[in-house]
Amino acid sequence: MTETQSVLPAIELVGLVKEFTGNGETVRAVKGVDMRIEEGEFFSLLGPSGCGKTTTMRMIAGFDEPTSGEVRLHGKDVTGVPPNKRDVNMVFQSYALFPHMTVADNVAFGLRRKGVAKAEAAGRVGEMLEIVGLAGREKRRPAELSGGQQQRVALARALVNDPRALLLDEPLAALDLKLRQSMQVELKRIQREVGITFVFVTHDQGEALTMSDRIAVMNDGRVEQLGSPREIYEHPGSKFVAGFIGTSNLLSGTVTELRDGVAVIGLGDAERIVVPAGDAVMGADLELTVRPEKIDMRVEEPGADRSRLRGTVTEVVYLGTSTNYNVRTSLGTTITVFTQNASDADDIAVRGDSVWLSWEPRHSYAIGA
Ligand code: ATP
Repeated sequence: MTETQSVLPAIELVGLVKEFTGNGETVRAVKGVDMRIEEGEFFSLLGPSGCGKTTTMRMIAGFDEPTSGEVRLHGKDVTGVPPNKRDVNMVFQSYALFPHMTVADNVAFGLRRKGVAKAEAAGRVGEMLEIVGLAGREKRRPAELSGGQQQRVALARALVNDPRALLLDEPLAALDLKLRQSMQVELKRIQREVGITFVFVTHDQGEALTMSDRIAVMNDGRVEQLGSPREIYEHPGSKFVAGFIGTSNLLSGTVTELRDGVAVIGLGDAERIVVPAGDAVMGADLELTVRPEKIDMRVEEPGADRSRLRGTVTEVVYLGTSTNYNVRTSLGTTITVFTQNASDADDIAVRGDSVWLSWEPRHSYAIGA
């Protein structure tokens, strides 16, 4: 790799905007997206239906041209460059395999069109089928394969052309849960093995957290937050991100005390919420979030330095390895708590019990709007 290649991002989006006009109406699908995707990253675009993920991907691939802004691939502005001349390939949710062709012919299709000699094409097809775990199934037709296997053929077909980046638009959405989970692990392995950039579109937060090096959380045509799965889960930058990724437990209150790097929201009568002070000022209203697995729930009163709220258990859901509790707090909000189950322990509480919830100050974060 040359020095220039090593510093250039694989994909760069600069002020990207896409509007669709039809029937006298204009839809702004992408409203100014900026991001850098580094070479070799497993990068996900995550967000609810209609937030602009697919449109963003289609602009990277060249199926749609931006209304304004730029797509740069390995440092080059590719405006006007057709999809087949870009160094990226796209895999769709509908695998779009040719039903009358064998697995090997499906994978070889692009190579043949490029005029790659038959023997060389056969060698590369064999290599790709090995990587995606389909060696020995060259002669089958798509209808003779499972959904997961068909998806692997689509992957092999996209990878055989040696793209520098692979774009995957909800590639696992059509698979059932078990198969989807095993394909998540497989996709990661394949990406590591081929070593190229993967950009993965999903509306499934668990999938994005499991697979990605970094995630861009999109909402309403914009990127709300960009970071590692841990950053996004543990430090959601906005209410939307906190709510979309996992269970957020939103709370609010007014700062009544600032000391030793913490802001205290005093709630009277032994209850309080303590958060890292950050930019908080006395008297300011704070909104904050705490993740369900960080909360300790018990009948006894907790230690003095912790955030502490009293509440009543309203729901108990036993899930085998864990139990989820909903607790109606004295603030009037309901907080969800996840507890790991020891093999021989009873439930901590039952519906109607009075409990204390507590957590360390560093486990709750003040968040923006
Ligand atoms: P999903 O997860 O449902 O695929 P998405 O996040 O990929 O959603 P997009 O498909 O990018 O979202 O769509 C973003 C917005 O742009 C939506 O409001 C959609 O209706 C609109 N849109 C997308 N393509 C077109 C088009 N060709 N013409 C008009 N509107 C479009």
